[in-house]
Amino acid sequence: MTTHVVGAGVAGLAAALRLAEAGQTVSLHEATPLAGGRCRALADGTDNGTHALLGANTAALAFLDRIGARERWVEPEPDGLPVLDLLGDEARHVGLSPPSWISGRLRPAGVSLGAVVALMRISLGLGRDRPVAEAMAAYPDFLRGFVDPLVIAALNTPSAEASTHRLGAVLRRLRGPATTRLYVAKDGLGPDLVAPALASVERAGGTIRFSARLRRLLPQGGRAAALDFGEDGTILLGPEDRVVLAVPPWEATRLLPHTEAPADHAPIVNLHFARHAETPVRFIGMLDALCQWVLIRPTGVSVTVSAGDEAVRQEQADLAPRAWAEILRAAKAFDLPGPWPERAPTCRVVKERRATPRHRPGAPPRPKRMPLANLALAGDWTYPDLPATIEASVLSGEEAARALMASARG
Ligand SMILES: Cc1cc2nc3c(=O)[nH]c(=O)nc-3n(C[C@H](O)[C@H](O)[C@H](O)COP(=O)(O)OP(=O)(O)OC[C@H]3O[C@@H](n4cnc5c(N)ncnc54)[C@H](O)[C@@H]3O)c2cc1C
Repeated sequence: MTTHVVGAGVAGLAAALRLAEAGQTVSLHEATPLAGGRCRALADGTDNGTHALLGANTAALAFLDRIGARERWVEPEPDGLPVLDLLGDEARHVGLSPPSWISGRLRPAGVSLGAVVALMRISLGLGRDRPVAEAMAAYPDFLRGFVDPLVIAALNTPSAEASTHRLGAVLRRLRGPATTRLYVAKDGLGPDLVAPALASVERAGGTIRFSARLRRLLPQGGRAAALDFGEDGTILLGPEDRVVLAVPPWEATRLLPHTEAPADHAPIVNLHFARHAETPVRFIGMLDALCQWVLIRPTGVSVTVSAGDEAVRQEQADLAPRAWAEILRAAKAFDLPGPWPERAPTCRVVKERRATPRHRPGAPPRPKRMPLANLALAGDWTYPDLPATIEASVLSGEEAARALMASARG
C-alpha cells in the first residue's frame, strides 16, 4: 500500500511528511529537478522570491518546527517595520497591530478612529464583499500608507481589486502582538525550508523522485486507477494505493478537468542584488516606490514587487538601476551599515508570472478535498479560507493527508 504524492511544493512536502510520520509508505513525485515549487531556491541557491511569515501563520511555523528549521527563521525588525515614503522622503517605523499604534511611535500615517473602525469592520467580515480601496476610500492616507502595502503583501492583489472578505480572513488572525511578528529565512529558502523538509520526509521513510512529471491521471469507477509519467513509466494503483495531488491549479484542472480552481493569477517580481556584507538581516518597506519590500541579508539584497503586473513587463536593464537607487535612499534614511556602492551590483530578476491567484471579491473556488475515493487534493488554492500562502499550503497538505488516512480507516 503506497501513497503517491504528486508535487513537491510546500503542500506536497507537508502531506508527505504527515503520511510518512504516520507510518505510511510514501512516494513523492516532482516534475522539476528541484523541490519547493513556488517557494524554492533556484539552481544557484537564490530564492525565487522573498517569503515572509507572520506569527499568525501557526501551521507554517509548526511545520518549520517539525522539520527542525524553526530557528533558521529570524525576526529582522522586532521594533517595528522601517518604512520609507519616497514621496517626501519620510522615514518611520510602523507596527502591524493597532494596539502598537497607541504610543504613537509605531503609528502609520493617516490613522484616525474612523480608519481603525473601517478596518475593524473589514476584519469582522461586516458589509458586502467589495474592493478594499472602495471600503477604505474615506481614509486615503491610511489606505496608501498602511492598508495598500498590507493588502498587496498578503493577497498579491492591489487594494483597488482585492476582496474585503479575503482581507478580513487575514486580519482576524492578527490578534495579539505575537501574531504580527514577522519572520524571514535567515540564509534562504533552500537551507531554511526545502532541504530540511526533504530530509525530514526521507528520514520518515519517504522516497522522492525528481524530473517525474505526471502526464495523465487515469480515473476509473470513481477512483484513480493509474498515474502516467510518460517516459518514466505508468504506475498502476492497487486497491489500497492512494494519491495526493499537490500541483498548482492549472495542472490540477489539466489532470482532473472538472476541478473547481482559480483561473486568474497575479505575478510577483523579485530582484536579487549580489552584495556581500556581514550585516544583520533587515526588512524595509517602501511607499511610492518600485521596491515594496527590501530584504537585506549578508548574501544579498532582495526586492519584492507583488501584484507586479507592470514590473513583469519591464526589462532588467530598466528595473535594476531604478530599484538600486531606491535602496540607496532607504540605506541612507535608516543608516543601514554599508557598503552601498553607487552603481547597482549584479542583479538577477525573477519573474513569477503565476505567483498566486488574484484574490478579488466573490466566493473563491472551493474544490472538494477528495474528488476521487482514493485521491485528495492539496495546494494553497485548495484552502480558500486563507490567501494563497505557505500557511494555506501546509494546512492543505495536512488536511489532505488526514482525509486519506480517515478514508482508509472508514
Ligand atoms: C515570488 C513569490 C513570493 C511569495 N511570497 C510569499 C510570502 O511572503 N509568504 C507566503 O506565505 N507565501 C508567499 N508566496 C506564496 C507561496 O509561495 C505559495 O502559496 C506556496 O509556495 C504554494 O505551494 P504549493 O505546494 O501549494 O504549490 P506549488 O509551490 O506550486 O507546488 C506544486 C509543485 O508541483 C509540481 N508539479 C506541477 N505539476 C506537476 C506534475 N504534473 N507532476 C509532478 N509535479 C508537478 C511543481 O513543480 C511544484 O513543485 C509567494 C509566492 C511567490 C511565487
